[in-house]
Amino acid sequence: MSKRLFNFCAGPAALPEAVLQTARDELTDWHGKGLSVMEMSHRSDEFVSIAEQAEQDLRDLLSIPSDYKVLFLQGGASQQFAQIPLNLLGEDGSADYIDTGIWSRKAIEEASRYGHINVAASAREYDYFAIPGQNEWQLSADAAYVHYTPNETIGGVEFNWIPEVGDKPLVADVSSDILSRPLDVSRFGLLYAGAQKNIGPSGLTVVIVRDDLLGKAHSKCPTMLDYSVAAQNGSMYNTPPTFAWYLSGLVFQWLKAQGGVEAMERINGAKQRKLYAAIDGSELYSNPINIADRSWMNIPFRLADDRLDKPFLVGAEERGLLNLKGHRSVGGMRASIYNAVPEAAVDALVAYMAEFEKQHG
Ligand SMILES: *Cc1c(COP(=O)(O)O)cnc(C)c1O
Repeated sequence: MSKRLFNFCAGPAALPEAVLQTARDELTDWHGKGLSVMEMSHRSDEFVSIAEQAEQDLRDLLSIPSDYKVLFLQGGASQQFAQIPLNLLGEDGSADYIDTGIWSRKAIEEASRYGHINVAASAREYDYFAIPGQNEWQLSADAAYVHYTPNETIGGVEFNWIPEVGDKPLVADVSSDILSRPLDVSRFGLLYAGAQKNIGPSGLTVVIVRDDLLGKAHSKCPTMLDYSVAAQNGSMYNTPPTFAWYLSGLVFQWLKAQGGVEAMERINGAKQRKLYAAIDGSELYSNPINIADRSWMNIPFRLADDRLDKPFLVGAEERGLLNLKGHRSVGGMRASIYNAVPEAAVDALVAYMAEFEKQHG
């Protein structure tokens, strides 16, 4: 007997149950071919068809223009923190970065190893509870690109606008908000995401890059990290993470069947409204983020007395509500409510929060 509980993990995160069932049904014998996807050559017709379908479905979901490449890489979003400057900074370049929390700061730290990084705006003066408005940004004239983090998975702030950076390529770490609602890809030079939040299993990193940004890699850039090498080889310069690619493709098909990112925007909008309303309407729970900058996907909240954290988490587990403990740097709770977390999970969490407050408030 197997059971499925409600999983609020920040990552690796919940996957759609229907996708897992398809993967189970196809696990030992994919489409009558007598072998598992895990056992196929990445150069076989079968796997190439899986890979191409996944790319096409992602292109359809995000309406990715034809002058962008979609790359299926490894190393996680963290590897992109180095790979982006190695590809876009040139031999001695500089770039503008926006600091809105832990992930953008990690990106800044790593990029600083490869060139001059100008922190053009920082949320520090807002204790990272709000996003500095574009009027506060000090962009530099010679930046090769502008990097920001649309959704800070740990802090729980999210841009609900796309920065205006003139003719500079805009680069965004969309690890935790890709596919959560529509996104105008044409506004960006490069988008990247570790798969394990809102795409699929860990081990795969998706990069969407405009063609004119290819072929500019630093002369010492490792071959494996050169976007143009990946692009020329269909992301198969070496063996790609085939099973993660396949499973992500199943998620893309599931998303299409749900009605695409427009449907996700409706559902995710309803989910986050319910959870923030429960937090704001209580005496026990609080979320410190400026209302306009609140994340839809990752919702941190605190209890008025942190001695209640433990009993709250124990009671949550008893009710099948998993992984609500906040990030160690923030404390309290965090509910990650990605695409694959159903509205019923939020309903169950909100009901438990009310019940717990009645007992302990
Ligand atoms: C999780 C996360 C990362 C790190 O991703 P890895 O794939 O583990 O390297 C980076 N940026 C954001 C916004 C994230 O949510």
